[in-house]
Amino acid sequence: MEENSVKLENTRRLAAIVAPLLAWYRENARVLPWRENTEPYRVWLSEIMLQQTRVDTVIPYYERFLAQLPDISSLAHAPEAQLLKLWEGLGYYSRARNLQKAAKMVMEKFGGRFPETFEEILSLPGVGVYTAGAIASICFGLPTPAVDGNVLRVTARLLGSFVDIASPQVRDQVGRALTKVYPREGSGDFTQALMELGATVCLPNGAPRCETCPLRNLCSAFETGSQQILPVKTKKAARKIQEKTVLLLRFGDELALSRREPGGLLGGLWELPNADGRLTPGEAAKLLDDWGVDAIKFAPGPLGKHVFTHITWEMTSFEVLCRAPSPRFHWAAPRALEEDLALPAAFRIFLK
Ligand code: SF4
Repeated sequence: MEENSVKLENTRRLAAIVAPLLAWYRENARVLPWRENTEPYRVWLSEIMLQQTRVDTVIPYYERFLAQLPDISSLAHAPEAQLLKLWEGLGYYSRARNLQKAAKMVMEKFGGRFPETFEEILSLPGVGVYTAGAIASICFGLPTPAVDGNVLRVTARLLGSFVDIASPQVRDQVGRALTKVYPREGSGDFTQALMELGATVCLPNGAPRCETCPLRNLCSAFETGSQQILPVKTKKAARKIQEKTVLLLRFGDELALSRREPGGLLGGLWELPNADGRLTPGEAAKLLDDWGVDAIKFAPGPLGKHVFTHITWEMTSFEVLCRAPSPRFHWAAPRALEEDLALPAAFRIFLK
């Protein structure tokens, strides 16, 4: 009985936020390119790009992508090299590959029309419950919440909830609770308003801007002064550190590249030749020998570091001037590196 009344209280509190939150959003929403035109292809593309990536970073990528691949058909038929080049630097390249797989599926299974139900959208490669909820509500007006970290934080504070928001069950519960209060009109705005409040007002790390929040009179955390300690979230395991040695092999103005093995981290993408571990000059010279590289000059190069989700690469390097272009590698001129070949950011830092 007590649990039921808690749930009822939560539903009432969430229902009460709908009108003030929508009014605030319509007055204060940031102008973002994917909000100006909510055609499903555009919203889908933006949601995929925004996974793990900041808004400011995404905007130029989004615009360049749309300029070259303006619709689902052009994405489905794009050469992989063009697709990866458009994605270069955004990271998590499986997102780009899944986008194209999904575009092909839309062409083949849905006759080129973006699917309009939550379940069909969810069936597309690379689309999870969050993204399907966002597209279904923003593009088709369905009452389908998109529960991300922002929304979990906002709801935990609003409801004064001390449950662990890292738990998948909590995510489902929040999704179900929000579904009950979705407005008939303005579903897409409500989805975006929750995200926007989390991104611009109800900020993480104990720094919410409650004084400007349209929901402060409805917020349990504000009422009890617990906004600094909410939400409760268990910490992820620390990232593993992996050492690498990168060999910057130059012949004239060309640079040696190789392809990574398919699958796994950065699978199938271009890379600078490298080896695991921090090689000594002697070990690096031996490796060059094994690779059949005839070096004229050989010197320590810059250091580099790249952080992935679960692992950090700490890289040392050697700069090597070659007498001839070893056939073991693909030799790229600066223009090809700039315009055609997608080299992940983890390696591109060595080109600066
Ligand atoms: Fe977040 Fe503060 Fe607004 Fe509550 S009042 S929702 S803690 S910004």
